[in-house]
Amino acid sequence: MADYLNIQSIHTMKRSILFLALFLGGATIKAQVNLEYYLPDNISYNVSIPTPEQFTGHEVGEWHLTHDKLYFYMIELAKVSDRALWEEYGRSHEKRPLGQLIISSQENIRNLEELRQQHLQLCDPSKSEDVDISSMPVFIKLGYGVHGNESSAPNSSVLTAYYLVAGEGKQIDELLDNAVIMIDPSLNPDGMQRHSTWVNFARSLNNNPDPSSWEFSESWPGGRTNHYWFDLNRDYIMLQHPESVGRVAAFHKWKPNINTDHHEMGANATFFFQPGIQSRNNPLTPPENQELTAEIGRYHEKYLNAIGSLYYTEETYDDFYVGKGSSYPDIHGSVGILFEQAGVRGHLRETPGGSLSFSFAIRNQFTVALSSLEAGLRMREKLLESQRKFYKDALIQSEKHPVKAYIFTEPTDNARVSEFIRNLLRHQIKICKLNRDIIKDGTQYKAENSFIVPLSQPEYLFIRSLFEPVKEFTDSTFYDISTWVLPMSFNIQYTGITSLKELAALTGPEITDPPMKQGQLLASEDAYAYLFEWNEYFAPKALYLLQKAGLTARVSTREFTCDDGSLRKSFSPGTILVPAHGQLMRRDAIYSLMDSVANDCRITVFGVKTGLTTEGIDLGSNAFNILKKPSVIMLTGEGTSSSDIGEIWHLLDTRFNIPVTMVTAARFANVDLSRYNVLIISGSPDLGASGTENIREWNRRGGTIIAYKGGNTWISRNKFAELDYIPPVVPDIKEGIYINKSVNNQVHQIPGSVFETVLDLTHPLCYGYTRNNLPVFKRGTSVVRINSNIYNNPVRYTENPLLSGYCTEENIERIKGAAFASIHRNSIISIYDNTNFRAIWYGTTKIFLNALFFGQILGN
Ligand SMILES: [Zn+2]
Repeated sequence: MADYLNIQSIHTMKRSILFLALFLGGATIKAQVNLEYYLPDNISYNVSIPTPEQFTGHEVGEWHLTHDKLYFYMIELAKVSDRALWEEYGRSHEKRPLGQLIISSQENIRNLEELRQQHLQLCDPSKSEDVDISSMPVFIKLGYGVHGNESSAPNSSVLTAYYLVAGEGKQIDELLDNAVIMIDPSLNPDGMQRHSTWVNFARSLNNNPDPSSWEFSESWPGGRTNHYWFDLNRDYIMLQHPESVGRVAAFHKWKPNINTDHHEMGANATFFFQPGIQSRNNPLTPPENQELTAEIGRYHEKYLNAIGSLYYTEETYDDFYVGKGSSYPDIHGSVGILFEQAGVRGHLRETPGGSLSFSFAIRNQFTVALSSLEAGLRMREKLLESQRKFYKDALIQSEKHPVKAYIFTEPTDNARVSEFIRNLLRHQIKICKLNRDIIKDGTQYKAENSFIVPLSQPEYLFIRSLFEPVKEFTDSTFYDISTWVLPMSFNIQYTGITSLKELAALTGPEITDPPMKQGQLLASEDAYAYLFEWNEYFAPKALYLLQKAGLTARVSTREFTCDDGSLRKSFSPGTILVPAHGQLMRRDAIYSLMDSVANDCRITVFGVKTGLTTEGIDLGSNAFNILKKPSVIMLTGEGTSSSDIGEIWHLLDTRFNIPVTMVTAARFANVDLSRYNVLIISGSPDLGASGTENIREWNRRGGTIIAYKGGNTWISRNKFAELDYIPPVVPDIKEGIYINKSVNNQVHQIPGSVFETVLDLTHPLCYGYTRNNLPVFKRGTSVVRINSNIYNNPVRYTENPLLSGYCTEENIERIKGAAFASIHRNSIISIYDNTNFRAIWYGTTKIFLNALFFGQILGN
């Protein structure tokens, strides 16, 4: 078969331009870029379609496109061409549009909905058998720049769009007749906007390729992440951000056969395309997927050879974690392909291999889009057939699997189980209600708050990846985390059902929405006081709303039972008391505020008529501690971890509506700390002697310090607390050969695993928890021994701690019985591991919020 493109001819005449771009570091901007440098010259282009330069005012690669220019160019192409339409699927946190330019032949675009419906039938084993794939188009999604500062990716997307919309002739027609192509030009618009602003404003007219140049030192935290500094290329499972929610919905709407994911790596590298490291593939992904990836790779090989670019495969990257843009498709019957181009992060940059230009990087990205399109065209039937087979096989395999379904419950916190269900539904996972109360493996599953996920459904493999703990691995190195057992991160009780008969007897109706409990106020307007418990997820939001309104609230540190004739109920430690009297607000206003807070936060608020209880402490007891409204300052900037800070910021801002003042180390010494009563330190920034002494003095006067993860090094170094770190395991290597050095050195890493802790439920740091075992996430090898004061160790690792993920026996020994969190004098709270990981650890965020709200009563 003839080459789809006469690629040898494309680039011969452009060698001279490439030479200029690569070797004339001092050349002016204009000399480096030219549309012809990128585009195949063996086809003609429709002159009525605007080129990127005509629309944006500069050539591709001359300046970095800002997101708005990129977006409006796509919109323009959709407007002027009947081959293209723009489909918006969401808005970023900063309200930038997310979407894709869908390009195909005029006829396909006219019949697009029909083609889509037909295509989706391939993924439904009950309908796929009779689908005729011989004349169906292949669906190809090209995804760019999930990391916003990997700019050659989105900057190349305009070339691909122009090529497909303006290109004319037989080759283009053949492609568009047989393919529906979706260009998602920027998967992370907010990050792209930050980065493009930086590199454009820091550049000179005369390119300066000196790597020390300011242009290459993007300001902290850089444009890689989204608005809250999350890595969106880890959010495909978690779906905690609008970018990923929309993108995954679009994935399931179209189920593309090929999904490209265009990235950048370090400037000194070359170009990577998948397949990645074979031994590190996720074992649940069918091997056929890697065979298709390798076959598609032969097209990249051919195209990159033609332009002489260096490249590599089967190293560095893996598809073990299925929550990335290149791996999520693989476990959904599609083929995800990761591309990594050496990143310039500017315009022209010296590297040991010669000068690297932005335009050269863009051309590589554009070239592998062309090779992916040709692969899609030539492998069309194979890809469609593979997709059909994937879903058919899923059902067959599910019949052989010993577990037939998972059953799960959360009896005391509706919001948490609702969010868990919301996540599963977004992945198109079928969930049913439990139709009667049962006890299984010692746990009670009540019909009202328990659910069933049957495994006999198209998402069988993905469900297993979310529910099955894993402790056996074929490789000891991981590009990302080693486990992501979703019920554990939500602290939800679950178990497997192995009998089909039992499953049939227990399965109730399917649910299509999260079962959201409505908030309620059970009180009369003349209530003496209001009470609400701390176990519900949004209880901290309720407390903050009441404190913000000026009400004084207290927390109980003991159990008690109320019985005033209309209400009889026992309350746990951590219950919040708001007296109706003695407040700076009228009683009727308090009543209506309680009503709206209960509704907003989906909690139950109880009213009582008397201060006397029938058991335990009375409402006026000293065992109710008055709470000050948290006023929070958090260190940010260089020296802190943007992901840890971003997770805290996102947690407080988006879920609990609690403002946090973020201050950099450089400005910290000038801040008046008396405005705040909680300080969060993550990382170990240099605050200077005066900044450190200010904190010490403020802490002595009653300020709470939350030392979070790396912040514990800071409090230890500055003698705020004595921490007893357990030395890391040194690999015991007595023999070995040089080539295995890096693997051997990594063997004792903890790449991200789940461990079990035991809670002291009477301790304020554990208020709201109802079971004394809690799964936690741990990444990194730092381990701290428990405090010598036994009452100051409310969250400890158990004696048999590993629940799921990779961890060597030597590290398990270190972790056994060690501290997850501990308390020191003067309300200093250490949280050693991540309670807020990727915003999905709903099970452990309460520990963090307890430190924030109740740290003030831990001043022992
Ligand atoms: Zn990347």
